[in-house]
Amino acid sequence: MNNKLLIKKKERNKLLYSEITKQYPWLLTLLKENEKISLEDIEKLDRDQRVFIENVLQKLLLEASKEWKPDSDVFVKVLEGKERIRCSLCGTPNRYIYYIKNKINQQKLNVGGDCVKEFGEIGEWMHKNSTNIIKGQVKVQNLAKINKHIPGVESIISRWSKIIDAQPIYIPTDISKEYLELGLKATQLFEEILDGKGFKERSIELTHIIKISEDYIKDITDYVAKKKSNKFTATREICKFLKRTKKEYVLDMINKDKGEIKWRTAPRIGEKEFLFLLKEEYNNKILNEGYEITGVNLDKEGFNIINRDFDMINFFAKHSNFTLEFGWLLFDQNIDEDFDPLKLLNLCEVSDEPSLDTIISKIKKNIYRKHIRIIDYDVAKNSLYLGDAALNEYLKLNLVEFVSRYKILAFYEEEKLHKKLIEEFKQAPNKITKKEYYRDKEAASAAEREFSNNRLL
Ligand SMILES: [Zn+2]
Repeated sequence: MNNKLLIKKKERNKLLYSEITKQYPWLLTLLKENEKISLEDIEKLDRDQRVFIENVLQKLLLEASKEWKPDSDVFVKVLEGKERIRCSLCGTPNRYIYYIKNKINQQKLNVGGDCVKEFGEIGEWMHKNSTNIIKGQVKVQNLAKINKHIPGVESIISRWSKIIDAQPIYIPTDISKEYLELGLKATQLFEEILDGKGFKERSIELTHIIKISEDYIKDITDYVAKKKSNKFTATREICKFLKRTKKEYVLDMINKDKGEIKWRTAPRIGEKEFLFLLKEEYNNKILNEGYEITGVNLDKEGFNIINRDFDMINFFAKHSNFTLEFGWLLFDQNIDEDFDPLKLLNLCEVSDEPSLDTIISKIKKNIYRKHIRIIDYDVAKNSLYLGDAALNEYLKLNLVEFVSRYKILAFYEEEKLHKKLIEEFKQAPNKITKKEYYRDKEAASAAEREFSNNRLL
């Protein structure tokens, strides 16, 4: 067959656009005059030219490939329907068009996925590495397409679960579950549409889901309107607090309690607004017992408490301890219990010096009649001496610890606690004599004098 093709149309075009071909003017002319070159065409050529075409042409095509590079980082474009353009080499209209550029003469070509492989290694590389670029462009095209059906579809889907988080109160899962499941389905359909899976049925289903989700949103806002005035409904701020402090398990408990804060969850919630709410609520219950929560300490998650009969001593109780003990006042009023001030004092701390001083001087007075007495104390040095003068026995103690154990003796005649104090004194292995007590005191003031002298120097 003498019409066998020796140079195909796309090879001919590639050579025409490549610089290397110009070194062979006779070949350039031949290529310009013929779209394809068959055996018949070269029979008219001279011997050298025929030999060239039969033996050197393949090498020339390979060398020509080296002149070309991708036109830019985005070297491939996905064109839709009418926008398709013809391949510079073979003339076929293409959906995927690769842009390639001649490094020497700056000639730009647009070629199809098959013809790009004509350009040797670089062509193969472009073909292989076009997948992600093509995917990205296809996604954008599909996004445009679905937006024509459902305007703003992407933001509708990204807002889906945020609608739950944006409610002023916690939405239990039995209220939010079906709505959120629809959201997952919508996301899946949307992703599939972007990936180019069957558009028609998916866009119909997605439109339907978005429509019925409006009914669910209405149910949720109705629920919020009904619940949000309940004092102990968990708020959005409480949810945020529990997530921030890694107490998701408390959120699970609240979920089981249908969004309501109960006695079992309240001690674990240190959120600001909630603590201020508790302050007001507890005061309604304890004011007539003589106690008052005067402030909330947010850093320590607790309450500042006073009793107006106790010379304005400042007490502090951690909210978790206070609410574990007294939460029933608010959360379980059926409990058959009376407010016990001793329990309250027991869980309170005292830390400021004037309050410590007042408490010690009160205890000192209250136990004066018994033969073990507070001999001496120094709040600033955190030290306190108990003594039994008759037995010539003295005992040095940590003042803050002493107050934490025996503060109740400042306010109440507690015989049992008083006995405990006497017992502790008797059992103490490190008692000293009166002489040693004075020596101890003298040593302490000497050390103090030296310290201030050194500071003056
Ligand atoms: Zn082509």
